[in-house]
Amino acid sequence: MITKDIKLPVKKNETGMVANVLEQFNKAADHIDLNPNIRRILNVTNNEIIIHFPVKMDNGDVEIITGYRVQHNNALGPYKGGLRYHETVDIDAAKALAMWMTWKTSLAGLPYGGAKGGIKINPKLYSQSELERITRRFTYALGDNIGPEHDIPAPDVNTNAQTMAWIADTYMSTKGPSERSTYQHVVTGKPVGSGGIEGRDRSTGYGVFITIKLWAEQRNISLKGKTFIVQGFGNVGYWASYFMEQEGAILVGVQDAFASIYKPEGIDVKQLQVHVTNNEGSVNNFADSNAIEKADFFGIDCDIIIPAALGNQITGDNAHIIKAKLIAEGANGPTNVEGEQILLQNGVDIIPDILCNSGGVIGSYFEWLQNRNGELWHMDEVILKLEKVLKESFKRVYDYAITEGVDMRTAAFCLAIQRIEKAYIQRGIFP
Ligand code: GLU
Repeated sequence: MITKDIKLPVKKNETGMVANVLEQFNKAADHIDLNPNIRRILNVTNNEIIIHFPVKMDNGDVEIITGYRVQHNNALGPYKGGLRYHETVDIDAAKALAMWMTWKTSLAGLPYGGAKGGIKINPKLYSQSELERITRRFTYALGDNIGPEHDIPAPDVNTNAQTMAWIADTYMSTKGPSERSTYQHVVTGKPVGSGGIEGRDRSTGYGVFITIKLWAEQRNISLKGKTFIVQGFGNVGYWASYFMEQEGAILVGVQDAFASIYKPEGIDVKQLQVHVTNNEGSVNNFADSNAIEKADFFGIDCDIIIPAALGNQITGDNAHIIKAKLIAEGANGPTNVEGEQILLQNGVDIIPDILCNSGGVIGSYFEWLQNRNGELWHMDEVILKLEKVLKESFKRVYDYAITEGVDMRTAAFCLAIQRIEKAYIQRGIFP
């Protein structure tokens, strides 16, 4: 018989992101006294798929590429989560990111579970036609491990609407006649015109902004004139900055994989985006800005930090240099457990990733519904509904944190876990 206070040890090889997400999970599970059997289930990922597949390069050579798809849990519905193309993609990252997706979709009240995957490449080293072949061959290799009612990928780091169009086309092309025309909801985040929904492109960044705005309202603060910095100027970083600027906040620093720039008078978001587009995707050498040391970036004097790049960025090594009052996690897992402890001790608030960046998957859900029901949604409708879901999620997390006396991440995890626990208890465990 298992005792109620069971705490499963983190396995020795899980030293990176999995250890981090499991620690967050176990902290919340302890708080809600999670049923031990359900804790056992949620501590592991259901399916872990690793595929090595050959792709012909432009010069005729064949390269062996490695792709991953990890499906953590599907108690609430089909697996859902992005695919990233990055050198840091490995089984540990895919597992952790899949777990975060489960908590994110549950917290948002969506009928989805959690999955994540990707390909271990630096996409900058491949031509567009090589990337197309890599994507199509990976999709083909995944076969029925993905599907519109089973596991639905979406964009993530270094993937976009074009990537999703290739996946949808490949998946549908390999099916029979009836599925061929109706299975476009096998992925979300497609281009508008190929089954995509208006507003999905900005839904993550808009969600980041809305949660910051809701936080500010709780504190009776206006965002007008407040300064912020952004790590990562991809889809999430750009759109979050765009909406923050519209609200009157001032972007004073941006960091990407190549450079860190700082300009206390304010960086024009549109101008920076144009620069990045013409500068091989980097903020490097943006006019009138000062280059600063990579290690000093999070220490910039500002009110809000939006990490919108990779995981494990704010850690025990650098959290103490942070002067901002709020971290809004546009990325997945940007703050590790040690970093978070320091921030909380220093009175820095954190809007946790599973709430802060959930606008993306909520937008995905709308796209999936649009495809499934043969509908066409418009931008204003998408934005309105997105805001409604985010407001409800934010309020539940905020209220729970206050009444239970826990930090916002633990509150978000508690609520997400409880929804899944309830489903398991209602249904029981087969057989
Ligand atoms: N990649 C995004 C995330 O991490 C979106 C996932 C989705 O829409 O399925 O939340």
